[in-house]
Amino acid sequence: MFDKILIANRGEIALRVIRAAREMGIATVAVHSTADADAMHVRMADESVCIGPPSGTQSYLHIPSIIAACEVTGAQAIHPGYGFLSENANFVQIVEDHDLTFIGPSAEHIRQMGDKITAKETAEKLGIPVVPGSPGGVPDLETARKLAAEMGYPVIIKATAGGGGRGMKVAESEAKLDNAFRTARSEAKAAFGNDEVYMEKYLQKPRHIEVQVFGDGKGGGVHLAERDCSLQRRHQKVFEEAPGPAISPEERARIGGICAKAIAEMGYSGAGTIEFLYEDGEFFFIEMNTRLQVEHPVTEGIFGVDLVREQIRVAEGLGLSFTQDDLAVNGHAIEIRINAEKLPNFSPSPGRITQYHAPGGLGVRMDSALYDGYSIPPYYDSLIGKLIVHGRDRPEALARLSRALGELVVDGIDTTIPLFHALLQEEDILAGNYDIHWLEGWLAQNL
Ligand code: ADP
Repeated sequence: MFDKILIANRGEIALRVIRAAREMGIATVAVHSTADADAMHVRMADESVCIGPPSGTQSYLHIPSIIAACEVTGAQAIHPGYGFLSENANFVQIVEDHDLTFIGPSAEHIRQMGDKITAKETAEKLGIPVVPGSPGGVPDLETARKLAAEMGYPVIIKATAGGGGRGMKVAESEAKLDNAFRTARSEAKAAFGNDEVYMEKYLQKPRHIEVQVFGDGKGGGVHLAERDCSLQRRHQKVFEEAPGPAISPEERARIGGICAKAIAEMGYSGAGTIEFLYEDGEFFFIEMNTRLQVEHPVTEGIFGVDLVREQIRVAEGLGLSFTQDDLAVNGHAIEIRINAEKLPNFSPSPGRITQYHAPGGLGVRMDSALYDGYSIPPYYDSLIGKLIVHGRDRPEALARLSRALGELVVDGIDTTIPLFHALLQEEDILAGNYDIHWLEGWLAQNL
């Protein structure tokens, strides 16, 4: 059992981990850059260590400083949160070499799923349905042309090392393939230092459906239903809900069962997410994330379990506190991501918060590291808060979201709050009638 863990992250997710650890009686160590000396996660943790200057590469991504912080404080394990080092297999290896525990899956599983081609191959072998596409990397334009002709247009070219929606280009026809192929390659090279790309059939109007899975570290696996994260801007999620409004209980049991079995067969340990595109009643695997996701609270909402606590338990070798049979979907949960961004261009809007008031009441959860007088530094992600609501059904959750959003006050900077006020007036949102392109279309017309 751990006495003390270090959180290699900042912002709301660092608070999220501190809260779970505290309830378990585990002491916490925060790490921070010089720009985050006044940050809430530093105030809230039992101890803190400054690990470097503002830039992420010199602080939250700087492995030697994080290992040193563990040694200085006597922390036995590291929770990586999401982003930063959470899916860095090399980091996991170094953590283990120092006789520390990484709260997450093995380096091998992270590596396997971090390469999207290997991930797809692995998924296919495990019986998970995948998007039709190239059998591995596409080396040149000639091959791309041949494969696309067989597959049928439109196609999408994606970076093998991709993430965050970068290095992805759609070609509607052969005339556009040349340009899409070249652009995807150069973007992939610039963003990931690896220009390998692969090709998939481009699905026209799918929903993004992802299944939350957990490996118990003892050869067992469970699923915690799905989240619908179709509302995206530039392939980035902005609104997530569980369960998926378009998924029937039968479909949930079927795809969940396939995922849970795959996780058990892999011998996977800890939290993971298997992402699919869903169209005309069919699921198509696109990737697996080997970490806790930003949107995990909607799953916590409908199951009433603490996923971070389970991550820590699994890392301690205790396994999960529940079995598949203990899990039943209860009601509906929705999360909205509040960013420090100025509409209509979503340009970053860091600065001083003059007034912050979090909403409250039944079924309302606000995960945020904001406080009155806090200055949002310009160096990091623009996510400043997640408003999560739970209701007995979807209409109740939506009404609660509108009500809670009305109570939320974030003054001093620009935020994406007005976007959600507007979206909650939309018939399609209220009806759950949207696909992965809906939001881009709406933004083009309304902002
Ligand atoms: P990343 O790791 O960069 O987030 P993903 O493979 O998860 O990349 O894809 C991100 C988003 O891109 C998906 O949620 C979806 O909106 C879109 N996308 C990816 N592959 C396809 C495809 N084959 N057809 C249509 N849209 C796709």
